[in-house]
Amino acid sequence: MGKNILVTGGSRGIGAAVVRLLATRGDRVCLNYRSDQAAAQALADELNAAGADVFTVQADVAVEADVLRLFARLDERWSALDGLVNNAGILHTKSRLTGIDAERMAEVLATNVVGTLVCAREAVLRMSTARGGAGGGIVNVSSSAARLGGPNEYIDYAASKGAVDTLTIGLASEVADEGIRVNAVRPGLIYTDIHASGGEPGRVDRLKSVVPMQRGGSAEEVAEAIAWLLSDQSSYTTGTCLDVSGGR
Ligand code: NAP
Repeated sequence: MGKNILVTGGSRGIGAAVVRLLATRGDRVCLNYRSDQAAAQALADELNAAGADVFTVQADVAVEADVLRLFARLDERWSALDGLVNNAGILHTKSRLTGIDAERMAEVLATNVVGTLVCAREAVLRMSTARGGAGGGIVNVSSSAARLGGPNEYIDYAASKGAVDTLTIGLASEVADEGIRVNAVRPGLIYTDIHASGGEPGRVDRLKSVVPMQRGGSAEEVAEAIAWLLSDQSSYTTGTCLDVSGGR
């Protein structure tokens, strides 16, 4: 029997691969996106035409009112929420710290950290067995940057992902006896549009020689790890950060 799962930032890249994998294995999926309505709807339409159950909701995870509206939509549609993939994340153009202003720092932290925390809070409120829920799973999408620090590129982004690792560990402990498992994946260099946002669409190919496996990864490879952490097959795994990074 499939689960009811919310994927934030599901219109492109890793999030879209997660939506596709979960939907095709029989889960019901809420595909959240921020701005690319056409891409989100096209993916949902394609999957629904093949028998899946996917619906889209626009919401900016950095805006608390948007997140509350998003979860209200879930409440209307589903009697229970079983899983959350906190995937939405942003980075800005490559820069040393001396070129990064506070506005950019705040924007990165608002999406990557506050957005993750607020979505996790709303999921816990619905899934916790201490609150009448049936339990569930949360997977946060961190980054290898949390370990590597992002020097000369985006330490603001790397720091935000360090926070994602830390909140994963803390929340996992906090809700472990309430039927909720909380884990993170740390993707390495993955072929998606996010590198163009950082001003370098070819970044993965430039850096792939530093990866022990000598290649970048695909969004589908990350999606497999996320799907496993959400599944009952990982039932004794919580509070862990799983590297999906070719050994780097
Ligand atoms: P991407 O291709 O740039 O896609 C980002 C997705 O997040 C889009 O669907 C976008 O929606 C959505 N999004 C962005 N800000 C949002 C917000 N405030 N509210 C709701 N949705 C928002 O990125 P990606 O590479 O797939 O990255 C996904 C996650 O993996 C991120 O957390 C990223 O930090 C992490 N990651 C990626 C890599 C990599 O190499 N690609 C490595 C490590 C970690 P719209 O299109 O509608 O704006």
